[in-house]
Amino acid sequence: MKVGDVPIGSGSPISVQSMTKAKTEDWQKSVDQILEYEEAGCQIVRSTVNTPAAAEAIIQIKKNIHIPLVADIHFDYHLALQALDAGVDKIRINPGNIGAQDKIKAVVNGCKNYNVPIRIGVNSGSLEKDILKKYNYPCSSAMVESALRHIKILEDLDFYNTIISLKSSNVWMMIEAYRELAGLVDYPLHLGVTEAGPVFQGTIRSSIGIGTLLAEGIGDTIRVSLTGEGVDEVRAGKEILRSLGLASFGITIVSCPTCGRLESDLIGAVQKLESKTSRLKKNLTLAVMGCVVNGPGEARGADIGVSLGKDHAILYIEGKSQGQIPVTSVYNKIVELIESWPDKEEE
Ligand code: SF4
Repeated sequence: MKVGDVPIGSGSPISVQSMTKAKTEDWQKSVDQILEYEEAGCQIVRSTVNTPAAAEAIIQIKKNIHIPLVADIHFDYHLALQALDAGVDKIRINPGNIGAQDKIKAVVNGCKNYNVPIRIGVNSGSLEKDILKKYNYPCSSAMVESALRHIKILEDLDFYNTIISLKSSNVWMMIEAYRELAGLVDYPLHLGVTEAGPVFQGTIRSSIGIGTLLAEGIGDTIRVSLTGEGVDEVRAGKEILRSLGLASFGITIVSCPTCGRLESDLIGAVQKLESKTSRLKKNLTLAVMGCVVNGPGEARGADIGVSLGKDHAILYIEGKSQGQIPVTSVYNKIVELIESWPDKEEE
């Protein structure tokens, strides 16, 4: 499957998504946000299309961004058709919520004509009443039953360009639901913990939910949802992929937690290095270690490594010692080395 020019599923690299937080009608503000997300490594972006003016704004947004745009639609099929004509690359809509069969058909035909995939987005907080009644409360099986129902509606119309998400704010529930569905269908899966919460809690909750599934080989694209800046969602998503060796680029920083042996400002240096390097499209490991106890071993194992002492640091490049440099020049030296490291083009 392709969303715009981004392949999803069948072994393609896992992509990172986010959602705009501006009113979609304010296309300029939406574009500004998306350009920032792009800088942070976002590969697909979604905007709510909840009014005709929002659907209209899609035309301007599409003209000014460089990544595929997904329209988030709840049930109004007119808005889905308008968004398709405006050039969206994917639609998130649950066919069972559209209503009459001719309306569902119109949306499906529109997606077929434009070769646009549909994401079925099941959310444990908004399951169908009859399914809830059957299971008594939201649970993974209820979510899977809801997904299968929406899938059948599309398959009955000969539509298979489908991706599915099964989101819950309950990490266990979403893990179980995705596991269950992955054993039943071959469609690509969009992973996420919904309403994950504020940045610190939400990042950890999302990392556990999304990370557990990715580690089991389940999932094709991810979105971290945070009550915070969209850029933080993108950074968290990229970091989850990087932790599992699934990101196509990025600088992995290995640094010690520091202890009483430390003689220089390692925490400050690492913070500065992280913010300086987080947007660079390089593919390397950087180790910044606080002393000679574990320092040389980790530093030697990285592409670029330093082991700090009181006044001097030992610098390593690809495992080879480059001798001592003054501690005061460590930051500038590392930045210089990283900037001259070959760029990694995203696969
Ligand atoms: Fe402490 Fe040195 Fe280990 Fe850092 S590398 S935590 S300073 S012993």
